[in-house]
Amino acid sequence: GARGRATGFSPEQREQVLGSLALGADLRRLVAGDPAAGELMLHYQPLVALPSRTVRGCEALVRWRHPERGLLSPDTFLPVAEAQGTAAAIDTWVLREACRSATTWPDPDWTVSVNLGRSSMVCPDLAATVRATLAETGLPAARLHLEITEHDQLPADAGVLALHELAADGVGLALDDFGTGYTSVAYLQRYPITVLKLDRSVTGCDASPALLSGLVGLADALGTTVLAEGIETDEQCTRLARLGVDAGQGWLFGRPVPADRLGDLRPLPAGAAPEG
Ligand code: C2E
Ligand code: MG
Ligand code: MG
Ligand code: MG
Repeated sequence: GARGRATGFSPEQREQVLGSLALGADLRRLVAGDPAAGELMLHYQPLVALPSRTVRGCEALVRWRHPERGLLSPDTFLPVAEAQGTAAAIDTWVLREACRSATTWPDPDWTVSVNLGRSSMVCPDLAATVRATLAETGLPAARLHLEITEHDQLPADAGVLALHELAADGVGLALDDFGTGYTSVAYLQRYPITVLKLDRSVTGCDASPALLSGLVGLADALGTTVLAEGIETDEQCTRLARLGVDAGQGWLFGRPVPADRLGDLRPLPAGAAPEG
């Protein structure tokens, strides 16, 4: 309508911008207080070895229990947080909560994977923050995996150095969503990557076996393992395992759940139907 034309926005765009602004104000309030005071929470999704389908660890995935909007997914609010400068504070809370939680899990060998957003990756205090968190929670460094994603811009040397220091401590490093972004050899060589996580757009039913074999070969050459994201069906799982994929994550093995449901995780025999 006339109003939309006056601002240069369609009513839908206007709604979206106003929604983000409101979310931004709520995020500032959240981060200024104690995020643990209730609204942020973590769900954990199992990571399994293939072909055995044995659980080896879990990825921590943040959610926001918004008082009016209900449970918000990270894709709704993390881009807003990244733009306003509150994302690193959220990641730091996630790191501490995930490490603390992992010390109480049913299997004391499971690893915990924590995502780092762009601002966490360039944070000069990254190594110090992670080391302090491990010391405080008592989680062994080898049980922590950090997940980074590719960005159009390589981060400052400080971030790269921090990740090398943490790798020397035994912390694992996964390259997340591989196959979607600005995939470059520079990334693969600059970081001490231990796991390549293939994005679900690369591991779907229509994925080319030749391409997947190539990615498995690339991982071999780099000395990393390969994990396939988005495994939803038994057939897909079998095919990926045959192509040499070492590990998997997806609804077939379990959806992200609160920590108190991790006790339900059991290895899923091949051919069994996924739950719910
Ligand atoms: P991601 O790290 O690639 O995490 C996997 C996403 O795929 C999760 O979405 C998960 O719920 C979803 N997923 C897992 N298995 C399947 C499947 O079989 N099928 C389908 N269709 N989806 C599946 P979620 O939880 O919405 O998280 C979205 C993204 O938000 C994550 O992608 C990650 O990049 C980011 N994220 C989540 N938590 C954090 C955090 O604490 N810090 C930062 N910086 N980023 C986070
Ligand atoms: Mg991830
Ligand atoms: Mg991922
Ligand atoms: Mg992904």
